[in-house]
Amino acid sequence: MTTKNAVFIYSSEFEKYSYPPEHPFNTVRATRVREIIYSMGMLSGSGKSEVAPKPAERIVLKKFHTARYLHALKTAAAGHWDVEALQMGIGSQDCPIFKGLYEYSVLAAGGTLTAAKMILSGQADIAFNPSGGYHHAGPEHAAGFCYINDVALACIVLAEQEKRVLYLDVDVHHGDGVAQAFYDRSDVLTISLHQNPKTLFPGTGFENEIGTGEGKGYCVNVPLPVGTYDQAYLKAFETIVLPLMAAYNPDVIVFELGVDALAGDPLANLRLTNNVYAEIVDHLMSFNKPILATGGGGYNIENTVRAWALAWSIFCGADRGEDMSHAMGGVFLESTEWQAGLRDRALAVTEQQRNAVQPAIEKVIQKIKKSVFPIHGL
Ligand SMILES: [Zn+2]
Repeated sequence: MTTKNAVFIYSSEFEKYSYPPEHPFNTVRATRVREIIYSMGMLSGSGKSEVAPKPAERIVLKKFHTARYLHALKTAAAGHWDVEALQMGIGSQDCPIFKGLYEYSVLAAGGTLTAAKMILSGQADIAFNPSGGYHHAGPEHAAGFCYINDVALACIVLAEQEKRVLYLDVDVHHGDGVAQAFYDRSDVLTISLHQNPKTLFPGTGFENEIGTGEGKGYCVNVPLPVGTYDQAYLKAFETIVLPLMAAYNPDVIVFELGVDALAGDPLANLRLTNNVYAEIVDHLMSFNKPILATGGGGYNIENTVRAWALAWSIFCGADRGEDMSHAMGGVFLESTEWQAGLRDRALAVTEQQRNAVQPAIEKVIQKIKKSVFPIHGL
């Protein structure tokens, strides 16, 4: 795969919908990313294009969600909300009912499924749906701002076509909905790097959760201590994820690119800069396999938008590592951490921070090497 065909999934339809104003999840992030990459000339020309998604079909949604849940979601969104829906998490504080909730969720999932379809047909080598990544939703419950689990659905659809799927989740929260969906399967390897679940929602994703039966060793959790910084994160990524990926040799990578592990995110406590995501994207692309990337968490809007635009610039081959500030056009990005182009300024790490983080990460690495690596012949 030498000439890559990168597809950005977006439709102005998304602009019709938003979570309630007091809710941290902001759907405008996708629109903002689109504005930036458009103004930087990164949506057209050789190897890059923009595709509008189709809403997910009900028959596809039922590959993961129950009919009872889909019915409750649709009727609750239409104003007929009841106790049964609330018991499924619909209409809770985290997953409120808002105008167009059902249409939005189905279109967002449709974005990820459109991406999967384009990868399967060979129309795309890389597809990025910034309106996707709802990894907490379960077959019969909404959770953590997520209603329809687009990433689990994409993994199911790809696995149905006999693809070996690697699901990589770098959102700061454990990708629990997806991990659970494939917990006893070896055809979808799920890897989630996230803040230690003792200190963050959803409270699962410890290193000893490694799958069961056929799936033993095919669920990998890398919990990271509060304060984890770039170099420590990359060490964990390079020592755990890269060898596992190479051994597993996937046909396709599904990449949940929540960026709420960035420093300054109001909902979490890691300290990454977007340079980490740039490096991870580089690593993933070096495998020369199709990549289906989605958005996810990211609650500092400016930082999130910039990180996703940076990721796209690498996906579509526009980022060559040089300072792109000259290409920024009239885009004004408001953030104190912003240095030039799309990249964050490096953050200094004190001795004290290093001492608080490094030993904890080393312990996790050793445990995973002992429990999971041998299953993959490592
Ligand atoms: Zn998250």
